[in-house]
This record gives sequence, structure tokens and C-alpha cells, in this order.
Amino acid sequence: MRDVKWEAVMEAAEWRCQCTGHCGRSHRAGLGRCQRETYSGMVSGLQVAPGDLVDAGGLVALCDSCHGDLARSARARRAQAELEAQDDLFGPGLLAG
Ligand SMILES: [Zn+2]
Ligand SMILES: [Zn+2]
Repeated sequence: MRDVKWEAVMEAAEWRCQCTGHCGRSHRAGLGRCQRETYSGMVSGLQVAPGDLVDAGGLVALCDSCHGDLARSARARRAQAELEAQDDLFGPGLLAG
């Protein structure tokens, strides 16, 4: 089945994973960008993901391995941000002692 949104995102990404090291790998072989590619009409290999995972706007194309790592670190970042928000809520010092 054709997925129009998926195709539009992949076309903009030139059918290639848009991770440029955000997953923690250097992607040196691809000169800083992940080399995983997919092909027109083949809905596999790459997936549509929120652009903020790689500091981009809108939607981006990511391969499974980059997306997995990015989603994990995004969850960790969110958890950390929530902890910090809680600290702000209670104010410094209140939890100490
Ligand atoms: Zn990738
Ligand atoms: Zn990557």
C-alpha cells in the first residue's frame, strides 16, 4: 500500500536516513550522515519520525537503528527535564536536609 505522507518525507530526505550523528554514532562512512537508504515504493528500512529528534523541523526520515537510539535518548531527556521541573517547583533547598 502506498503511503503518501511517507513518500513525501522520504523524497525530501532523498530516500536516506536523515540522522547526522544525533544517535551518538559518527556516521563517518557517510561523511557525517547515516547511509541507510530505502527505495521508492518500498515501505521498509526507513520510517517517518518527528524532526525534533534530530533538531529539525517537521518530519524526517530515520532508519530503525538511528531512530531506536534517538527515541531512547529523547525519552531520557524528557525524564531529566521533568526532574528539573520538579526541582523548580519545590525550589532549591526545600528537598535538602
Ligand atoms: Zn540511520
Ligand atoms: Zn544515526
